[in-house]
Amino acid sequence: MSGESFDGLAPLRDIVSQFELGALKSLGQNFLMDLNLTYRIARTAGDLAGVNVIEVGPGPGGLTRAILKTDAASVISVERDGRCIEALGYLKDAYPDRFKLIEGDALECDLETLAPAPRRVMANLPYNVATPLLIGWLKNVDAYQGFTLMFQKEVAERLVAVPRTKAYGRLSVMTQWLCETKIEFNIDRKAFTPPPKVMSTVVTLTPRRGPQAPAKWDHMERIVAAAFGQRRKMLRQSLKSFALDLAALGIEETRRAEELSVVEFASLARALD
Ligand code: SAM
Repeated sequence: MSGESFDGLAPLRDIVSQFELGALKSLGQNFLMDLNLTYRIARTAGDLAGVNVIEVGPGPGGLTRAILKTDAASVISVERDGRCIEALGYLKDAYPDRFKLIEGDALECDLETLAPAPRRVMANLPYNVATPLLIGWLKNVDAYQGFTLMFQKEVAERLVAVPRTKAYGRLSVMTQWLCETKIEFNIDRKAFTPPPKVMSTVVTLTPRRGPQAPAKWDHMERIVAAAFGQRRKMLRQSLKSFALDLAALGIEETRRAEELSVVEFASLARALD
């Protein structure tokens, strides 16, 4: 398959040069120009028949057009950069019934209002806002069938990290509390224009049927933030302000945040009720 012609549309490089889409660092722009690679990412999501895909940051449209090549019912892309909105007219013309483009800031947008269920979020995320975007979606995770997302490798490693490892932290606990997490594959920095400083990794997040253990979001967030805010300190110190009876919860006060499982964090969070 020629990377430039699998859908018969103009090569991405032509779109980028015609609309002068010089990458803006402030918008985390690193474009994937290899359509074979974007198609590989799209296929990672499995069978998309009947699924409405919401994409954040289509840029010149490399991943967007790969998703449009699948059986996805529709693709709704949210983009902040007006230049890309203009450039993506070629995809609106090619897929008038299945492709919708929204100009706006994904951080200020409730993605679940953009399409009916089943919904899947797919994106090569702008790295400067990847974590706040993910946290926002996790708060309402039941709205989504799943997520196929590209992060910088270090962040991907945090998402899947297990206790007693350096990468285990707030993001690991909050994500794994609500989702199954899986690393799919790495993408070399040279695949991007311009190349970012770090490697990238595609990750699949699949919401669990319910959280690993019950707890209120706000309580979980407060406990986890406090514990990892002083990750080298014992819990009796890092959680002091909550005045919890740790022994009554079966958690020794000499343990540290990175030794606690997600289920143990949830039991601490429930104690705040
Ligand atoms: N999907 C394209 C690709 O794979 O080549 C572009 C990915 S680039 C890493 C991130 C994209 O997100 C850029 O197009 C950028 O303009 C857009 N973006 C950055 N911040 C955004 C935000 N807050 N809301 C929506 N889009 C944003």
